[in-house]
Amino acid sequence: MQPRSLTDIAQVIGARIVAPAGADPGDPMIGPDVVIDSRQATAGALFVAFSGERVDGHDFVPAAAANGAAAAVVQHPVEAGVPCLVVEDPQVALAALARHVVDTSPDLAVVGITGSSGKTSTKDLVAQVLRTDGPTVAPIGSFNNEIGAPLTATRCDDTTRYLVAEMGARGIGHVAYLCSVTPPTVAVVLNVGHAHLGEFGSQEAIARAKGELVEAIGPDGWAVLNGDDPRVSAMSERTGGHVARFAVHRRPLDGGEVLVWAEDVVADELDRHRFTLHIEDRTSLLTGGGGEIATSAFPVTLRQLGAHQVPNALAAAAAAYVLGLDAEAIARALSAAVGLSRWRMEITERPDGPVILNDSYNANPDSMASGLGTLGRIGDKRRARDPQARIWALLGDMLELGDDAAAEHRRIGALAAGLGVTDLLAIGEYAADIVAGAHDSHVDIRAEVVPDKFALTAAATPLGPADVVLVKASRGLALETVAADLAAAG
Ligand code: ATP
Ligand code: MG
Repeated sequence: MQPRSLTDIAQVIGARIVAPAGADPGDPMIGPDVVIDSRQATAGALFVAFSGERVDGHDFVPAAAANGAAAAVVQHPVEAGVPCLVVEDPQVALAALARHVVDTSPDLAVVGITGSSGKTSTKDLVAQVLRTDGPTVAPIGSFNNEIGAPLTATRCDDTTRYLVAEMGARGIGHVAYLCSVTPPTVAVVLNVGHAHLGEFGSQEAIARAKGELVEAIGPDGWAVLNGDDPRVSAMSERTGGHVARFAVHRRPLDGGEVLVWAEDVVADELDRHRFTLHIEDRTSLLTGGGGEIATSAFPVTLRQLGAHQVPNALAAAAAAYVLGLDAEAIARALSAAVGLSRWRMEITERPDGPVILNDSYNANPDSMASGLGTLGRIGDKRRARDPQARIWALLGDMLELGDDAAAEHRRIGALAAGLGVTDLLAIGEYAADIVAGAHDSHVDIRAEVVPDKFALTAAATPLGPADVVLVKASRGLALETVAADLAAAG
């Protein structure tokens, strides 16, 4: 944040200032950094003490001060030689500070991104496109909750042009809360899928929760909606702002035109997609259409693999376009964008030939289907060259699916078999359901339950030179170690 005086911050967050014993703190400037980890404290930083289940942030105020922190937000005063800002609830205080930083940034537009799958991937694309136009703040990784989001917002200063905010929803009201902290100018909704279905109960409830994002934008804001997802497209009814839809292939849609779409979509050997990016002149949307509408078309070659990156890139293009970037610059930036967040379809091409796809960051039925689709497409191309090529799916549980869990795991097993997987190894509580689904499909496939991660790596060793392996499960299973072992085994 732009450095602010201690008393200003105290006023913004409603804190009582407690001076260090025997010292007059004066009214020092605090900032630019706001941190919750004492190890990240820098000179002048504001340290916010959170009390977790295992550690109490108050114990780390002295360490933060030793690293240069100039003040600490606390629930009770701690003697560490720096002034304390005493509040009732540090989360409320952090949110108030973040909101103040956003409101007082002179030239800031906030892009909020939600959806069941692809938030982080899209956030990384949006950030890399917007960065070509002006200083951009975006979280690292999947920093999308009620602490990560405001903490990211505090990284904005007077020069920041764009804040890209990933907004995850685990229940009704979560996105609305995040929007109250960093009110979006552009609200991107990617899809309404099956993630956290167990907590929500139904896809309609998920759609209600995600739609809170488009309700939060003002009349000058933009809802950027996936025209290929009917539940998302229908959110145009819930917004007071303008609507821009993206769709992978342009087609007339009930209730709205498509602003951004792709044509001539083709994938290379490693499922990296290229396409022609089409963007309509947005003035037609503002004036209600009519007359000849100009469309620009520029080639995009994505560096990240997976067909799911096409809608993500279109979403990013639409968000950037409504913020005023020109189509050619957007296409160029998308083609230059790299994967910034780990374990999402990370690819290793081993020197001895096999390819490992590490998608171990997380899994739900939608991202599992998209990961298997990529595996299948890469596998088909490899088998066309070498019939010995084996297509391996090393899969683990998709967590948080509630009552549907067993059925969804069976469906994934059947899908893998249908996509040409030759070797399916499953781990976790629902491994037997995945394997049963594969066997149900009556396709010739080796499908087995393995007891642990060591057995999983061992069962996929050695790999043949033309083999391709997908490693994917929910975060709780931490399969990245399996992917790393396989990647290093060559
Ligand atoms: P989380 O809710 O865990 O933060 P997220 O929405 O941020 O997830 P990402 O981390 O971007 O999602 O992607 C996770 C995985 O989901 C990717 O590795 C990929 O397999 C898949 N994925 C990404 N984008 C899409 C999409 N548009 N549709 C379906 N699956 C996708
Ligand atoms: Mg994420």
